[in-house]
Amino acid sequence: MKKQIWDLDTIKKLQQNLLSWYQQNKRQLLWREKNNPYLIWVAEVMLQQTQVSTAEPYYRRFIQRFPTVERLASAHLDEVLKLWEGLGYYARARNLHKAAKIVLDEYQGNVPDDYHSFKTLPGVGDYIASAVMSISFGQPYAVVDGNVKRVLSRLGTLPFPVNDTRFTKQYQQIADQLLERNHPGEYNQAIMELGALICRPQKPLCEECPVNELCVSFLTNRQTEFPKRKQKAKIPTQKVSVGVVLKEGKVLITRRKENGLLGGLWEFPGGKIKVGETSEDACIREIKEEVDLEVDIISHLKRIYHTYSHFKLIMDVYLCEYKSGDVMLSGATEYRWIHPNEIHKYPFPKANIKFFDVLEDAIPRLNEQS
Ligand code: SF4
Repeated sequence: MKKQIWDLDTIKKLQQNLLSWYQQNKRQLLWREKNNPYLIWVAEVMLQQTQVSTAEPYYRRFIQRFPTVERLASAHLDEVLKLWEGLGYYARARNLHKAAKIVLDEYQGNVPDDYHSFKTLPGVGDYIASAVMSISFGQPYAVVDGNVKRVLSRLGTLPFPVNDTRFTKQYQQIADQLLERNHPGEYNQAIMELGALICRPQKPLCEECPVNELCVSFLTNRQTEFPKRKQKAKIPTQKVSVGVVLKEGKVLITRRKENGLLGGLWEFPGGKIKVGETSEDACIREIKEEVDLEVDIISHLKRIYHTYSHFKLIMDVYLCEYKSGDVMLSGATEYRWIHPNEIHKYPFPKANIKFFDVLEDAIPRLNEQS
């Protein structure tokens, strides 16, 4: 028997207050309009590590293009990634695409309504499985995301750091104890909505909170002490050099391997600058190593600063002139010579998109001169 940290009357009161607050205050969001498991699944995948306001326009475009599992399953990965471009964490898109094919082939296009079957699909973890099973199928699985952890931590003055996965189990057990089993989907959405709108990371609106009379941190005036967080290691900086190789008015793009960071996206050849190397030398060396071409540098296009979740990037981008050689890939899976005005057809990492403006400006001028 797991230890109850709230008594049953308190839990009942908390559930009732949360549910009635949610009924009156929930936001009208696109994915709440229909109870369609596929649409809810797509929304929950997009909302992982992404705020509602950022995800919403992506979601709108995505379901317009792929309104059903069948449409997503039959799409080319490039098109899926293009619609995801800028949202980050591209493994989510690749996995969703793979999972849609499996749902089409093995479940006749119906999202499985069994937690364990659904969880075998690529990219479906505890959170996604609990969210889809509870919201779409009314099954009693409690969700635990960042919002839920923050609310639980403050409600119970919990000592477990919310950014330490070793304590996810503790949060899951508490969430399971509090779940309202007759309306699990509504309850899960209510506690997440409370975290998003009221029990916000900074300055929680405790006076307006429907569960403040039950919240230990509020009653003891310690809201700012929770949630606890473990100190994060400082994220490293990577310096890279990238070349836009120009040949007869076209530029060379290569495609990253499907697995790993930014997998499946297109990019320009380049890589890390070695200690003691200039960024120009690194650019020429990386192009030789990655695509086996000899190039000259024409000009420095731009320096890009971009922050990923685990490192910061400083990227020097050069416009290069093709000198000799035939493309031989090492690492990338495909290459294309494309006209610069085709660049928007391909999915690129955000750090690349940040220099498209100067690239579009520079290449027509060069072509006019030649
Ligand atoms: S009372 Fe304040 S700290 Fe407690 S759950 Fe509500 S908003 Fe969060």
